[in-house]
Amino acid sequence: MTNWAGNVTYSTERVLRPRSVAEAQELIVAADSVKPLGTRHSFSLVADSVGALISTEHLDRIVEIGDETVTVEAGIRYGVLAAALDDHGVALLNFASLPHISVGGAIATATHGSGASNQSLAAAVSALELVDGDGTVRRFRRGDADFDGAVVSLGALGLVTSVSLDVVPAFDLRQYVFEQLPWPAVEAELDAILAGGYSVSLFTTWDEPAVGTVWVKTQDQLDLQSYFGATAATEARNPVPGAHPENATEQLGVPGPSYDRLPHFRLGFTPSSGDELQSEYIVPREHGAAVVAELRRLRSVVGPLLFVSEIRSIAADTLWLSPFFEQDSIAFHFTWQPRPAEVLAVLPQIESALEPFGVRPHWGKLFVGSAEGIAAAYPRLPDFRRLARELDERGAFRNAFLERYVFD
Ligand SMILES: Cc1cc2nc3c(=O)[nH]c(=O)nc-3n(C[C@H](O)[C@H](O)[C@H](O)COP(=O)(O)OP(=O)(O)OC[C@H]3O[C@@H](n4cnc5c(N)ncnc54)[C@H](O)[C@@H]3O)c2cc1C
Repeated sequence: MTNWAGNVTYSTERVLRPRSVAEAQELIVAADSVKPLGTRHSFSLVADSVGALISTEHLDRIVEIGDETVTVEAGIRYGVLAAALDDHGVALLNFASLPHISVGGAIATATHGSGASNQSLAAAVSALELVDGDGTVRRFRRGDADFDGAVVSLGALGLVTSVSLDVVPAFDLRQYVFEQLPWPAVEAELDAILAGGYSVSLFTTWDEPAVGTVWVKTQDQLDLQSYFGATAATEARNPVPGAHPENATEQLGVPGPSYDRLPHFRLGFTPSSGDELQSEYIVPREHGAAVVAELRRLRSVVGPLLFVSEIRSIAADTLWLSPFFEQDSIAFHFTWQPRPAEVLAVLPQIESALEPFGVRPHWGKLFVGSAEGIAAAYPRLPDFRRLARELDERGAFRNAFLERYVFD
C-alpha cells in the first residue's frame, strides 16, 4: 500500500481497521509494532511501519455537536465534518488547503491553513482520547499537564480515537484572487499582505517576474481592482498554474460558507496537482521577508522543479511539537513535480539557506534535516520523549522516522 501521492510504499501490507475503541485496544495490545494511519496524505515517512498500520478508516463518526465544541472520532475527514457542522449552525475556525484529510492525521502533524490570527488545526483541539501502548484509554483536556504534548503527537503516543475541536457560529467568506503581485511589495510589506483578509495565500514559482496569484478569503466585500499592486482576476483560477479552476473553491467574491472557501480545493475533486511531492518550511514571522529574498536567490534551482509554492501566515500556539510553538510564523510550501531524486537533491540547499532563520520543517512533508536540527528547533522535545516513554513504554508506536528525528 502507498500513501496518497504514491511516493511512499509502506513497509508493511498489514493494515488493521478497528470499528470500535475496544477493538483498537485488543489489536494494539496484540501487536509488537503498530503505527496509526489516517487518510495517507503525508509525504514523509512519518506514518510508516514495519509491523502493522492501524487505520482510523472506520472510526469516523461525529460523537456530539455543541455550540462551542464538536467531538468526533479521529478518522473523520474535515470536509465531511464541516458540512455536518454547517447544518447545526457552527463552523471550524480554519482548514488546510484540502478538506480530504482526517482530523487525527492533521492534528498529529500540526497541519495548518493561513491567516495572521489563525492558529494551526491542532490548536483547535480542546480534548482528546487515545489508546496507549498497553491498550489503556488515556484522556487529555486543554489545561491538563501534558495536554500540549499530546496533540501534535506524530502518532508516537498511541492511536487517537476521539478529538474535541473548538467551533464558532457559522460564518460566510468571500474569496478573491489577485494576479501579478510585484516582488518589491512582497519584500517590503509581506506581513500586511498576509494580514489583509481572514486567510491569505501567495502562490509563486519564484522565477516569475511577479508573484503569480494572491488568494484573499475575507468577510468583507472587496471592491478593489488592485491588492498591494496585484490586479483582480476576472475569472476563476486554480492555485496550481495551468490546472483546471473547477477543482478550486468558488472565487470572484461570491459569498459562501467558510468551509467552502477556506480550503483551496473542493472535496469532490483531486486536490492540488495530484501527481506531486510536497515540502514546507516554517520560520518566525519576522524573518519572512528575508526568507523570500533567500528563495528568490535560489529561483533557478527551485523553479524548474516546482508546480507552485505557497506562502502562508500562522499564529503561535503552545503545542510542544508544533512548528508554530510559541512563534507567530510564516510557512513556505513547495508543491514539487514528481521528480523525487532531483527534489531530494535540492532540499539540503533550501534547508541550509533557511537554517539561520530557525527553520522548522512540516512533519508530514519531505525534508532532510537532522536530529540535531530538530532538537534545536523544539525546546520541549525532552518533555515529549518523557511523555512517549510513559504512554508507550514498549516502543510499539515507534518507527524509523521517529527514531531518527524524535528519539535519536
Ligand atoms: C494535496 C495535499 C495538500 C495538503 N495541504 C496541506 C495544507 O494546506 N496544510 C498543511 O499543513 N498540510 C497539508 N498537507 C499535509 C497533510 O495535511 C498532512 O500530511 C496530514 O498529516 C495528513 O493527514 P492524514 O490523515 O492523511 O495523515 P497520515 O498521512 O495518514 O498520517 C500522518 C501522521 O499522523 C499520524 N496519525 C494519523 N492518524 C492518527 C491517529 N488517529 N492517532 C494518532 N496518530 C495519527 C500517523 O501515525 C502519522 O504520523 C497536504 C497534503 C496533501 C496530499
